[in-house]
Amino acid sequence: MTDQKYFSGDFEKQSQPEPGLQKKMMPVPDDGATTYQGAQRLLHKKALVTGGDSGIGRAVAIAYAKEGADIVLNYLPDEEEDAQDVRRIIEAIGGTVILIPGDLKSEAFNQNLITRTINELGGLDIMALVAGKQQAQEDVVQLSTQQLVDTYTTNVFSLIWLVKAAVPHLAAGASIITTNSIQAVQPSEFLVDYAGTKAAIRNTTISLAKQLASQGIRVNSVAPGPIWTPLQVAGGQLQENLPHFGQRTPLGRAGQPAELASAYVYLASDDASYVTGESLNVTGGLV
Ligand code: NAD
Ligand code: MG
Repeated sequence: MTDQKYFSGDFEKQSQPEPGLQKKMMPVPDDGATTYQGAQRLLHKKALVTGGDSGIGRAVAIAYAKEGADIVLNYLPDEEEDAQDVRRIIEAIGGTVILIPGDLKSEAFNQNLITRTINELGGLDIMALVAGKQQAQEDVVQLSTQQLVDTYTTNVFSLIWLVKAAVPHLAAGASIITTNSIQAVQPSEFLVDYAGTKAAIRNTTISLAKQLASQGIRVNSVAPGPIWTPLQVAGGQLQENLPHFGQRTPLGRAGQPAELASAYVYLASDDASYVTGESLNVTGGLV
């Protein structure tokens, strides 16, 4: 018997072109807009959230705004509709959100994103690096070099480019949060490229945590399990796996983005002042 707060039925098969729109999913993922309760844990903090238009990043952006942070949201230009929905949600609660669309596969854009974020917000305290690319491919022989390069560039290179550009501007107390996955330790046979990037992120997070500790900058990661987001219906999951997606976790269902938000809030907040180099599982019990 699973708890009743979140969807636990079978999902309908559905597919969208990458990167997909949250508003077209059935059911629409729960972003916490109506349920997340803020408690001023991030009051006056300035936060960059990548992948903030949909899925986990969207739930994080909404929670950060409800905790009192000012937000810059990054996403791909094709996702403008989802991003505008997030803007409306945050502005309706009196929050500040600035939209900066752009492709994280470009090193120049990563540098530009940090410069513009600092100019727009007047500083930078929190980097929630949630953007990621996942495309299922059952046959390694068919794995294109383009996909291989794009997955590693989006998931790993961009993380390091963003941190490189930001560190000279970060003060003691700043927090960087990366996004790895259960795939870092339980890689699926059809995610040869993606799973490797998530292991790299987990490892890179620890290196950065050790290097930046002396500057008072904490670096942690969140490891989601199977979460109902656009990435899964836009090529990230095999169609045959969609109906029962998440049901093999101990909790017996897929997670919703809203269930990830408080992990990112915790790691960003002063409550986690003695936590660095950590990866926090939010996996429905998968370890
Ligand atoms: P999502 O599709 O809602 O979010 C991914 C976002 O990444 C997109 O919205 C897009 O804005 C961004 N993105 C992708 N390529 C980009 C690029 N080149 N430039 C700029 N932005 C780009 O899906 P999600 O599941 O919420 O994904 C968020 C993170 O969670 C990803 O890092 C993903 O790997 C990770 N994750 C997801 C799951 C899951 O089951 N959904 C599980 C483990 C980890
Ligand atoms: Mg999206």
